[in-house]
Amino acid sequence: MTKWVYTFDQVSEAESLVGDWDSVRGLLGGKGANLADMTRLGVPVPPGFTITTQACNAYSDAGQVPDGMWDEVAEALAHVEEHTGKVFGDPSNPLLVSCRSGAKFSMPGMMDTVLDIGLNHEVAESLVDISGDAHFVYDSYRRLIQMYGSVVLDKADEPYEEILTEFREKTGAAIDADLPTDSLKEIVERFLEITPEFPSDPDAQLKLAVEAVFRSWNSRRAIDYRNASNIPHDLGTAVNVQTMVFGNLGDNCGTGVAMSRHGATGENHIEGDYLMNAQGEDVVAGIRATLTLDHMKENMPGIYDELLATADQLEKHYRNMQDMEFTIESGKLWLLQTRDGKRTAQAAVRIAVEMAEDGLISKEEAVARVTPDQIDFFLHPQFSAESRKAGDLLAKGLNVSPGAAVGIIAFDADTAVDWAAEGKDVILVRPETKPDDVHGMLAAKGIVTSRGGRTSHAALVARQFGKPAVVGIAELNIDLDARNMSIGGRVIDEGEFISIEGTGGEVFLGQLPTFVPDINDHWLSSLLEWADDIRRLKVLANADYPVDANRARDYGAEGIGLCRTEHMFFEAERLPTVQKMILADTVEERQKALDVLLPFQREDFRGLFEAMSGMPVIIRLIDPPLHEFLPGAEELKSEIAAATDDAEIATLEKILARVFELHEENPMLGFRGVRLGVLMPEISRMQARAIIEAACDAKENGATPMPEVMIPVSIHVNEIRLLKKLIVEVAEEVMEARGVKVDYKVGTMVETPRAAMTADQLATEAEFFSFGTNDLTQTTFAISRDDAEKSFLIQYVDRGVLPVNPFQTLDRDGVGGLIKIAVEGGRKTRPGMEIGICGEHGGDPESVHLCHELGLDYVSCSPFRVPVARLAAAQAVLNEKA
Ligand code: PEP
Ligand code: MG
Repeated sequence: MTKWVYTFDQVSEAESLVGDWDSVRGLLGGKGANLADMTRLGVPVPPGFTITTQACNAYSDAGQVPDGMWDEVAEALAHVEEHTGKVFGDPSNPLLVSCRSGAKFSMPGMMDTVLDIGLNHEVAESLVDISGDAHFVYDSYRRLIQMYGSVVLDKADEPYEEILTEFREKTGAAIDADLPTDSLKEIVERFLEITPEFPSDPDAQLKLAVEAVFRSWNSRRAIDYRNASNIPHDLGTAVNVQTMVFGNLGDNCGTGVAMSRHGATGENHIEGDYLMNAQGEDVVAGIRATLTLDHMKENMPGIYDELLATADQLEKHYRNMQDMEFTIESGKLWLLQTRDGKRTAQAAVRIAVEMAEDGLISKEEAVARVTPDQIDFFLHPQFSAESRKAGDLLAKGLNVSPGAAVGIIAFDADTAVDWAAEGKDVILVRPETKPDDVHGMLAAKGIVTSRGGRTSHAALVARQFGKPAVVGIAELNIDLDARNMSIGGRVIDEGEFISIEGTGGEVFLGQLPTFVPDINDHWLSSLLEWADDIRRLKVLANADYPVDANRARDYGAEGIGLCRTEHMFFEAERLPTVQKMILADTVEERQKALDVLLPFQREDFRGLFEAMSGMPVIIRLIDPPLHEFLPGAEELKSEIAAATDDAEIATLEKILARVFELHEENPMLGFRGVRLGVLMPEISRMQARAIIEAACDAKENGATPMPEVMIPVSIHVNEIRLLKKLIVEVAEEVMEARGVKVDYKVGTMVETPRAAMTADQLATEAEFFSFGTNDLTQTTFAISRDDAEKSFLIQYVDRGVLPVNPFQTLDRDGVGGLIKIAVEGGRKTRPGMEIGICGEHGGDPESVHLCHELGLDYVSCSPFRVPVARLAAAQAVLNEKA
């Protein structure tokens, strides 16, 4: 028979039933599992029990709670009563409980909570006698009715807030907690009038609250959050029913949250916010200004020391940074929750490395814990110190999520989403954010709020998704009706640009220039060095110019996997010569133009060899169809119409004629790649000469050039034979003339299914392979890489016809299958042949894993993705071991 309910002290039973801790978390939810585990550790946790995720799933399936569940709840409740010496629903000695959701993975604020369950008129009156604190009792009671209304009965919050506002205004109370007791009593009555369904029977309160929490698993916002966080929808949520402890019983009471390390920077010291004489949601709501733990250290030193020791104990136990909720009830500390803390990318890297340095976790664990996305965020743009100094500083707030963001102001989530869909960079500015704003926060580049603290919803969500955020700018006045905000006498409209700096907590008017942060940060470089020790795949970079090559090397690239030589042809001073080459009527004329281009290419290549001395530099011969270098026909026609000079008209007409001649219906399947070299060998000869001459120059300058000449878009071994012969002839001639010897290779890209299927033949000539997976995906799927994403492909992915965008993540079965065949074929002919990938997939973590599995030697990606690929390649090894 399924067991639906576990008391906090039955965790060992749950563990032996389901096996490992991960499954316990699956069964009891993260919060429930940790509460039980803390109980087992001897940490002070108010007694309670957990209704399992299985019960939630059974409820979702059947629309009613499973048989026997309420009996188990009653039994568990009796157990809690025994522990606390209080009785649920008994006015003479009442037990009050909370009812909270808790899924396997934390989903902050997404699901529901009801506090103070067990109160009714009778219990309240008697509790006043017992506690001697009527204010506290009626404050709790009005909270229960309001929460019950909104959570269980799905009522809007506004009518309750209106009543509270009315009483605050009437009594001059600044905040709800300051309302006099008589008002609270009246408020209770008014709340009951608008909540006639509220049951006075505590058992009914509990049952309906539990079912409401079950239902909240399938609320719109919870589903949105899971979609954005890749949390499966079939996990269900557990429900934790726990003895209430009160942080609002007087001045030796309080409640707060603490992180065992700094969630934004990762610094190794406890950090937190708390409020004296308050309930938990007051802290998270960010309406009252919270106090720091330094304040606690001074005012409640004993509690502070106990909290510190508990944080340390929990961190050592979980071997991870902990995010804790605590309450101090009449001078006694209670822990209400602990979980692995959300952190920024910066903090994730630092915490992982520091914990490994301190021996709490292994280096492998540190490498496994940081996600490739976090490495990416780590290297997100920032503002320079100078631009910050020169910027027009509007306001300062709390620095809750680092990084710089520039965008136009949107005052609500839907506007942010709409504008982002139009390709605009948006900063979402709100008084505070709520779970319903998450879609706008995801669409925005950054987030600003006028209210809220370090642990407010805005701060937590921003950190989790790596969005720069500044919150709690109290002076910022946001007028949602007028669609503007004002501060310091200045009024800024929606749609105006602001720049925000989440590391320092600054908001600037206008657009500040950004720069990319230092790769040499101690924590990041340690982590990446550990990853380098683990990974088998080499990581190269796609770079066309020496500056890119130098950056790539700084980022840890071990060579250049792809230099697209045609990019050099597009430069303004070169393009006219390239066009002359294309327009040439005779080979001699073409040669003349090529002679002009040669020194430019040679200089670029020399720079690459010097930047990558001792490392392979793979240079690809010209690839795109030639019309790409010429103006479009329409543009030419209007130029001709506007021209007055006869000679100019003649030239333009000649270009136009050539444009028509070169026109192809399917240029990507046309006269491009190796085909250009076969039919216009003088172009390939010039490029081969530039490469080998540059290598000789670099060698004479003291570098160790390792050129590899790469032939694009091959379909047949004969193409490679022709080109290779030509390249070798030129190379030998150059080296002979220069009296310098350089080692070089000639290889091919594998970008077509035929090349992959005949790889064994290609390898008789090709000395290396590099998978051009952009083209290989295009040719395998018969989907145009240039058009598909703007026509049907994204919809295909959205509707689940294709599981992922194959231009972003390598298609394992199709393209991956061809790569497998090609690797086997190539290495059969040429054992140990160097094989890598240089399509955009080289920087995509999932694709890097596949490349590792397929036995490639390297991945090559854009310089900025190199650190991501280094980590992903190491994680591929760790995954394999696991
Ligand atoms: C490729 O096709 O994957 C490739 C690297 O070449 P390009 O993107 O230049 O066609
Ligand atoms: Mg290609």
